[in-house]
Amino acid sequence: MGVVACTRDCYDTCIFEPVTSGGGLADLRPVKWFPVLGFTCPRGRADVRRLRSARRVKRPLMRRESGFVEVDWGRAVAELAGRLKAADPRRVVHVEYDGNQGLLTWYYPARLFNAIGAASTDYSICSAEGHAALKLHWGRSWGMLPEELAGARAVVFWGVNAAVSFIHGWAVAKRAGAKIAAVDVAPTETLKSADLPILVKPGTDVVLALGVAGELIRRGLYDADFVRRYTYGFEAFSEYATRFGPEVVEAETGVGMRAFEALVELYARGAKTVIGFSLGRTLNGGDAVRAISLIHALLGDPLGFFYSNSGAWGIDFDYLRGLHAGGPSWVVPMGLLGGAVDKFDVMYVWNSNPVMTLPQGDRICGAAQRGDLFLAVHEIVLNETAQCADLVLPAPTYLEKDDVIYSYWHNLLVYNKAAAQPIGEARPEHWVVREVARAMGLEGHVLIAEDPWAAVDRALRPAGMALVELKARGAVPLRRGDPLRFDTPSGKLEFYSLSAERRGASPLPSYARPAAGYVLTFTSEPMHTNTQFFEEYGAPPPVVYVNPEDFRGEHACLERGGASIRVRLVADPDVPRGVLLMRGIPKDAEGRPVNALVDGTPNPYGGTPRINTTAVDLRPC
Ligand code: SF4
Repeated sequence: MGVVACTRDCYDTCIFEPVTSGGGLADLRPVKWFPVLGFTCPRGRADVRRLRSARRVKRPLMRRESGFVEVDWGRAVAELAGRLKAADPRRVVHVEYDGNQGLLTWYYPARLFNAIGAASTDYSICSAEGHAALKLHWGRSWGMLPEELAGARAVVFWGVNAAVSFIHGWAVAKRAGAKIAAVDVAPTETLKSADLPILVKPGTDVVLALGVAGELIRRGLYDADFVRRYTYGFEAFSEYATRFGPEVVEAETGVGMRAFEALVELYARGAKTVIGFSLGRTLNGGDAVRAISLIHALLGDPLGFFYSNSGAWGIDFDYLRGLHAGGPSWVVPMGLLGGAVDKFDVMYVWNSNPVMTLPQGDRICGAAQRGDLFLAVHEIVLNETAQCADLVLPAPTYLEKDDVIYSYWHNLLVYNKAAAQPIGEARPEHWVVREVARAMGLEGHVLIAEDPWAAVDRALRPAGMALVELKARGAVPLRRGDPLRFDTPSGKLEFYSLSAERRGASPLPSYARPAAGYVLTFTSEPMHTNTQFFEEYGAPPPVVYVNPEDFRGEHACLERGGASIRVRLVADPDVPRGVLLMRGIPKDAEGRPVNALVDGTPNPYGGTPRINTTAVDLRPC
């Protein structure tokens, strides 16, 4: 048997050797290859157990007055096809995200909806803001590989709780003996373990990064030759960044002179940066990502940062989704979908749990329960979105189907061969949409007629890979592009972004001072990836960590815009005043999704909502 890669939305993309016993899958052994290094996380260790979870959906379920009843696949497919055919395509929306990163699982099924011109989301819930922000200056968003992290003398983990949510990146940096700095808004495990922990006020990271850049320029600690040969707009950036002196930095960010000085020194010694996705989910977050990346432009190190390498390999995701021969009639930002649910009659969900993970996602459930929305969900377990659905279709886990898995960190592409038989009547995502398309009379449409594996093969060609070779080898390293090639209007690395200027955005990273008041923010916790593994480890507790000077009492209500959640309070003197910290994506003390409350305002570059800087009121209740 070959290897399988964990398909979860996780930096690490662990690779395993399946271990069989008595003819069945018994365990997953993490490979010893770099950067998997022979270890994994609690989720990876539970994946085999999860195959037989009591919450698995085993057969198609249709909602009746009395609750769910089991139906056969023919009945389920006919029901969904009938609903889609009867609806105005503009009032049909498909909602999917990275619950499984497989090319067939995540990307391919959108073809059905792009064939009929349904509405789509903008896929902005996580990394989109940072991708778009980086492209403004670099013409790309990819950067450092694990091999380069392993050679770092110093690493700054900025806005990422790597010790919990990026355990292999953390291990690679630690094993390299790198001096580690961490920048975050709350005392995460990463911050507590860092040589240089830096607490920054929420929404002000951009000021800290501009301050570092300005200081490097002021002291002449930048690579003048690189700047001259490869960059555009240095003078404008230099004049701007040097306005953010240490006093400005301290006043805006709360970072004192000594910590600031230590961070500048670390960068002057060539520190690398891991830029966390959480930054894109904050006020000024895209601008923070822009400014941090430009520190590495100054240092003449175009591979000095890592954000996401998903765009490095050349895989044609648009082809997989069928954008060459179809497309959405309109696009709704993920942060606003919950509030726009009345614009839809039919919603098809796979690979995600929007009732829990999207701002105001609870309204999807409300609309389905009122009968205003026909909600169909293709899922592994009866999660919160499936529980509200009219139709639930059983999906296999990644261990029960063949797929192709890429990583957004390391460069190994993996052909996942099913390591276990599907439970019950679970069917893969591409099978379902093709059956529904057939029932709608769309089997001749170019997007449906193409065999899914042929589509995967075609999408891999720009990455220099053929499916037949990948199947034969199991895991294959991909190559990224030339780091000194910048796909920008000037053809250079742009300190001053011409594409931002052309679209009316600030050519330089900008800053809007956050309003005073309490800010609800989130960090990762080790037992869950988003809302996966609730069935194994239970949901994270409805706990908010708060500075005891801010609030005393056991429970409180957090309120925003008419929404309210009730939480248990845990006093933590390490949490900065004004910050309310939650772990994971929990429900509140009454079982309501916490995301009913969060800020769905799209950020300016990639549209990612400002979940991590949600301004709330706090009162006893
Ligand atoms: S969730 Fe992440 S760390 Fe855990 S097994 Fe999957 S890829 Fe590895």
